[in-house]
Amino acid sequence: MSEFKDAVESSRVAKQKVTFGSDYLRITDEHQTVIRVLDNKPEIRWSHWIPPNHHAFPSSNAGKGISIVCPGWDACPICEWNKAQKAKDKDTKDLLRARKIYTFNVLDRTPVVNCASCSAEYYEIKGTGFPTSCACGENLPTESQPRNKIQILQKGIRLIDQLIAFEDEPDLGEITGYDIKIDTRGKGGEAMSTCIPKQKSKLDLKKVLGEGWEDKKYNVAQVMSPLDTEKISKILGGEGYYNVVGDKTVGDKGS
Ligand SMILES: [Zn+2]
Ligand SMILES: [Zn+2]
Repeated sequence: MSEFKDAVESSRVAKQKVTFGSDYLRITDEHQTVIRVLDNKPEIRWSHWIPPNHHAFPSSNAGKGISIVCPGWDACPICEWNKAQKAKDKDTKDLLRARKIYTFNVLDRTPVVNCASCSAEYYEIKGTGFPTSCACGENLPTESQPRNKIQILQKGIRLIDQLIAFEDEPDLGEITGYDIKIDTRGKGGEAMSTCIPKQKSKLDLKKVLGEGWEDKKYNVAQVMSPLDTEKISKILGGEGYYNVVGDKTVGDKGS
């Protein structure tokens, strides 16, 4: 392989590599994602998104911006700021409104190939298929398999409405009864995801995840529990989220 091609190929495989230790389902326009919903109902919370460099909290979360679960009108520094904005100008659009977010456990069923040598995982690259060689130099298997990893899915109403609609389809029914493919176009705020249900199929979760698989699910209620006012203020003031909170976000996952 030429050096040029080699560089292009390896940058491509590197990009498709799954980040280990990531607890949230990766939804991207780089590959399709396949899920099986594991929870019968989502955890619903109001959340404020503070973009990086927002003029009200320019250094929030060490400058990275952050999404903060609203602890309620009277305990929330962001709602407090909104109130002050409205007091200055009751018609202002310069607000950090909360929006409803929906959070639940899914089984990530996205097809991947695993390196036998270093156990790196690779997704399919849209249009070109799976990479054939690992960043470590090993050849990758030609057969893909579902990733089968429990992840947290967190999304707004646009995606959730699509899922709810499937439950009304007589051939589909309850949301946990079939895999769902998520196809995404565009990035960031422009991203549009389309959900496509697959055929209804029984999935033996005991077989896929082992006995007691239910204990491996994330405690979503805990993950989504709001921080107290003092911690939120620290993060808004510029401290990094993990500095303030430790590993609490997903640290309560059963082993
Ligand atoms: Zn709030
Ligand atoms: Zn490898």
